[in-house]
Amino acid sequence: AQVEPFVKEIAAYFNEKFDVPFQVCGNFAMQEDVIEHLSFIVASAQSQILEKLKLGSFKLIDSKEDYLLYSFSDQIEVRIYPCRPTEFIQEAIRLSSTETYWSQMANKRIEQKTFAHESDFFIQNGLPSLPACLRREVELPDFIQPSHLIQPNEVRGVIHSHSRWSDGSNSIEEMARACMSKGYEYLVMSDHSVSSFYANGLSVERIQQQQEEIDRLNILLAPFHIFKSIECDILNDGRLDYSADVLATFDLVISSVHQNLNMTEEKAMERILNAVQNPYTTILGHPSGRLLLSRKAYPLNYPRLIEACKAHQVVIEINAHPRRLDLDWNWVGSAISAGVMLSVNPDAHSLMGIEDIRFGVLSAQKAGLRAEHNLSSMNLVDFKSFLAKRKAFKA
Ligand SMILES: [Zn+2]
Ligand SMILES: [Zn+2]
Repeated sequence: AQVEPFVKEIAAYFNEKFDVPFQVCGNFAMQEDVIEHLSFIVASAQSQILEKLKLGSFKLIDSKEDYLLYSFSDQIEVRIYPCRPTEFIQEAIRLSSTETYWSQMANKRIEQKTFAHESDFFIQNGLPSLPACLRREVELPDFIQPSHLIQPNEVRGVIHSHSRWSDGSNSIEEMARACMSKGYEYLVMSDHSVSSFYANGLSVERIQQQQEEIDRLNILLAPFHIFKSIECDILNDGRLDYSADVLATFDLVISSVHQNLNMTEEKAMERILNAVQNPYTTILGHPSGRLLLSRKAYPLNYPRLIEACKAHQVVIEINAHPRRLDLDWNWVGSAISAGVMLSVNPDAHSLMGIEDIRFGVLSAQKAGLRAEHNLSSMNLVDFKSFLAKRKAFKA
C-alpha cells in the first residue's frame, strides 16, 4: 500500500527521461501482499539507463547480472531490468510471472521473442491469457475465470467499520456520508465490544444508545442504510462477550480474536470453531490475526475451519487493511471451492480507511474471487434478504 505513490512517481520520472517503453513488473504487478522492493523493465541498454539516471532521485547501489539495483529517494529499493526493445513484451511477462509459471510453460513456448502486444504472446503460444496476478501456475483451479475477477467498483457496501464510539476517528454520520459520496449503498457499523476495553469497547448501555443514533440516521439518510453490528471479541474459550439477548439486537455480528493471540493450533481451532458455531456469528473477522511484517498468524487448520464455516453458514472476512489482508488469498480459493462466502471488508477506522477496500480486492483477485462470491458486493436489497434468510436459518 505504501509503495503505490512511489510507482506513480517513478513512472512519471521515467516518462520524462526515457522515450522507450517501460513498465512496472514483479511483485507489484503480481499484486503480492508484501512489496519490499519495486521492479521496472526498460526497453533500453544498461549503459543508457545508467547514463539517464545518473543525477536525481536514483542512487545506484549495485549492478547485478540482469538488473541495476537503485535506491529511490533513499526510501525504497528499485530493480531496473534493461532489455532489448524487440523482446520487451516477452520479458515484461516473464518478470511478472512466478518462476514456476515460466518454467511450466517453457516446454510449450515458441522460439519467437517479439510480440506486438501481451495478448499476442498468449495467443501465439496457445495459452490462456492471464493477468500478472494469476501467473503462478499454468494449471489454475477450475473456478477461476481470468477475465471475471472482482473489481473495486463491484463492492457495493462498506462492511466492518469503526466510529468514535470505540476507536475510530469519525462519527457514524461522517462515516455514512463518506460512504454515500463514494457511491456505496450501505454501511455496517461494527465498533469494538466490551472486552476490548483498550479500544473503548461498547458496554450494553452504550450499545443501546448507539443503536438509537443509527435509527435516527437511517431516517435522515434513507435510502442509504446503516446496519447495526459489533466486532465481537472471541473470548479465550470461544464464547462471545455479550449475552444472547444483546447479540440478538444486531443485524449482524463480526466475531474476531483480539487478545491472547499466542496459541497452539489446537487452542486456536477450539476457540475459533466455538465462535463459528455460535448462532450469532455472521462473519469471522480477520481469521488468522496476522499483521504483515510484524505479527505472525496463529496456526490454524484451514480446511477444518472452512468446513465449519460452510456448515454454519459463516462468512469469512477478507480484511482489506493493507497490514492484514486476512484471510490470506492462498486460502480464499479453498473457501470458494467449498462454497463458503467471503467478504472484502475495509475494517475502516476513519474516512480514509474506507479506501482500503481496494487492497482487499487486489489480494482477492489473486485467488480468482468474483463478485458473486463476495458478500460486500451485494446490493442493499440482496444484503437485507441475505441477513433475513440467515436469521431464519439460525432460528
Ligand atoms: Zn479486529
Ligand atoms: Zn475492526
